[in-house]
Amino acid sequence: MASGGRALIVIDYTYDFVAPDGKLTCGAPGQAIGPYIARQIEDFAATGDLVVFAVDVHDEGDWYHPESRLFPPHNLRGTAGRALYGAVGAAYDRLAADGLPANVRWMDKTRYSAFAGTVLEMDLRARGIEELHLVGVCTDICVLHTAIDAYNRGFRVVLHEKGVASFSPEGHAFALQHVRQVLGADVK
Ligand code: ZN
Repeated sequence: MASGGRALIVIDYTYDFVAPDGKLTCGAPGQAIGPYIARQIEDFAATGDLVVFAVDVHDEGDWYHPESRLFPPHNLRGTAGRALYGAVGAAYDRLAADGLPANVRWMDKTRYSAFAGTVLEMDLRARGIEELHLVGVCTDICVLHTAIDAYNRGFRVVLHEKGVASFSPEGHAFALQHVRQVLGADVK
């Protein structure tokens, strides 16, 4: 059973989005937040709270996908670019060593928001979860879109400032301000 009605959503912390030579990397700011996110993962997993790894997936040559006009190919299915990066990857591997515990889930997504076309909302409602803690990348793209969808669905949002990053300092600052002032989220 859910203990505290909260979940940690780890967004897109993959090789392509974080590694120095990732296809669509956030660069150094993304690499710097790995250990903080890994601590949150271990904390939430240990208390029995839900941990969801929401991970972008694309198929090569999917020209119908809107991102195909916006970004170079990234997080392609079956490639190393989709592997979780650094300390976050290590935290996941530790949890998965004996099979993922029931409170830890991997969830593919194909759009910015972790809610778009996924079972995330059903999983949260089924567990009575009302509070979402968001970490990952990029602050102003997938994290922001997930925060907005969470707001529209009536979830409380806690955005971990030390656990989010973007390739764009301006976008990062805007997103934090928007999430705090317009979504009424707790930015900590
Ligand atoms: Zn994408």
